[in-house]
Amino acid sequence: MGNTDQRPASDTGIWILRCPACGRTGDARKAGIIRVGAWSPLGKYVLGWCSNCRRLRMLNLVQADHACTDTQADETWKEVSAYVASKTIDAQTAEQIIAANVPEERKREIAAYIAEGMMEVDDALRMLNA
Ligand SMILES: [Zn+2]
Repeated sequence: MGNTDQRPASDTGIWILRCPACGRTGDARKAGIIRVGAWSPLGKYVLGWCSNCRRLRMLNLVQADHACTDTQADETWKEVSAYVASKTIDAQTAEQIIAANVPEERKREIAAYIAEGMMEVDDALRMLNA
């Protein structure tokens, strides 16, 4: 009687790893990522193997409950990764843009400025972190 051993809700959710490139999803714990709460400063993205794409990707780590509310972040990831693929933004800069604590629309705007050469990377990152 009386279960006093209640853990915080945030610690009991199901975490999902999703590949933004192909949409494949998998249970993060089964993928070997156990301490999901510790993943920072890259926020909700972790480097992982996508068995569908057969390559390493920055996988989107989401809590199951929030899985369908994260489309804005997906859009950012797609755009930024396209810039990386075309070598207009380097991977390190892309990670900093994705991890920045600003609205997703702002990240895409900044990424576009960098990619189009309208803004120096250093200036852009300063704006993101201001
Ligand atoms: Zn994939």
